[in-house]
Amino acid sequence: MAEGVTRCEVLVVGAGPGGGAAALHSARAGLNVLLIEDHPEIGTPVHCGECISDLAVSNLNLELPDEVISKRVDGIRVVFPDGTDTKLSEPGYVLEKHLFERWIANEAENAGAKLQLSHKLTGVERIEVDGKFTEWHCTGKGDLFPIRAQIIIDASGVAGVCSKLLDLNPRPKVIAGMQYEVLDVPTDGYLDFYIWPEYAKKGYLWMIPKCDGRANIGLVTEDRKGAVKDLEAFIENTHFSELGKQNPPWRESSDKIRGFGGTIPISGPHENTHADGLMLIGDAAGFTSPLFEGGSHLALKSAIFAAETAAIAISSGDISAASLSAYPRLWKAEFPPYGKILKGKNALYNLTDDEMSIMGRCFPKEMSDMGISGKTMIGLRLAIRRPSLYFKKIIPAMLAFGYSRAKYYGW
Ligand SMILES: Cc1cc2nc3c(=O)[nH]c(=O)nc-3n(C[C@H](O)[C@H](O)[C@H](O)COP(=O)(O)OP(=O)(O)OC[C@H]3O[C@@H](n4cnc5c(N)ncnc54)[C@H](O)[C@@H]3O)c2cc1C
Repeated sequence: MAEGVTRCEVLVVGAGPGGGAAALHSARAGLNVLLIEDHPEIGTPVHCGECISDLAVSNLNLELPDEVISKRVDGIRVVFPDGTDTKLSEPGYVLEKHLFERWIANEAENAGAKLQLSHKLTGVERIEVDGKFTEWHCTGKGDLFPIRAQIIIDASGVAGVCSKLLDLNPRPKVIAGMQYEVLDVPTDGYLDFYIWPEYAKKGYLWMIPKCDGRANIGLVTEDRKGAVKDLEAFIENTHFSELGKQNPPWRESSDKIRGFGGTIPISGPHENTHADGLMLIGDAAGFTSPLFEGGSHLALKSAIFAAETAAIAISSGDISAASLSAYPRLWKAEFPPYGKILKGKNALYNLTDDEMSIMGRCFPKEMSDMGISGKTMIGLRLAIRRPSLYFKKIIPAMLAFGYSRAKYYGW
């Protein structure tokens, strides 16, 4: 082996929520883990609305420290184009997401993982002995390169660096997300999600309340070029226009006030989420929730599955694709049916504003504990008000809301 080569059993690429959790659980399983992050610090710029449900927190066994929590919230209120609203009550948190990601990475370090910032993976080469895969030779920007790792867990987010370098999956379709931090925002403790296609094409807008009257006001839209202009028009034309904007706490307050955001993959889980010595997790695997595009819960859970799989594979001495095929089996058994929810989302965006509002008016004010009788009641109301909507696949559109709940990894 040439001098100056860094060796580890597991190389985790990207220290977002997925990468931090993968490093944490791999280290806890006793593996020799290196976590690298392209940026000089973890979690910034924030590219997230920052909410996570109680159910996710308990599903992931997280004991959130106070400093990462910005606000307790009671659930989601969906607002339709005519202002009709309905609630999906289920409690959760709005986080200071950059502090949350730093906390997870610190936990990973405490468990024995090595964290290296300002390290960007740019090349991977398979090493084989007698025709059998043995490890990866990784190159990139940063002092620790080249790095040799038996398993790579790719948590590089929408960049999907390993899919790109190895031509493993096509580039996913993405949707743009953008938000501003706004001050003195009135709230009753719900996340407000506005399905208003006028401003957010095939997406939605949000008001996500934080502590001290702060809130993230943002949108996701398929019109990537128009995202900033449309968000500003929404703020200008609603009660938010009276309120001031500021830079979020992780950005210099003296800097020009700017929005912050990113892109979110919306093609669904990639065809190939594993290969010899490789697993893709979180956004890098295409794991996002189709209707409201949340991805943190999915990233954190897929990280646990990948770490468990890595531990078993390394201890058995078999890191082949066949051995790592346990990983896709785990996530497929657990994650909700993307295709089915996507069908519902497409049906929803096929409706006119007026039809969406009629649908909203047929919903009860509270949707979280709707049983069979509640659903039947909605069906009857629709049949009376606009029976033609049944031909526009209204049922899958309505079901998509149910799938936005925490138990289906909606948030
Ligand atoms: C505007 C917006 C709002 C959102 N709101 C929510 C929300 O409220 N709730 C929710 O659950 N989800 C939300 N999401 C989605 C959520 O942010 C992502 O699903 C989640 O961050 C995915 O986590 P991850 O660890 O897979 O990837 P990421 O968080 O994207 O982390 C990837 C990391 O990898 C690093 N990296 C990339 N390439 C390399 C490389 N070559 N070498 C080294 N490091 C690399 C990046 O710098 C980054 O730190 C939102 C997304 C956007 C854009």
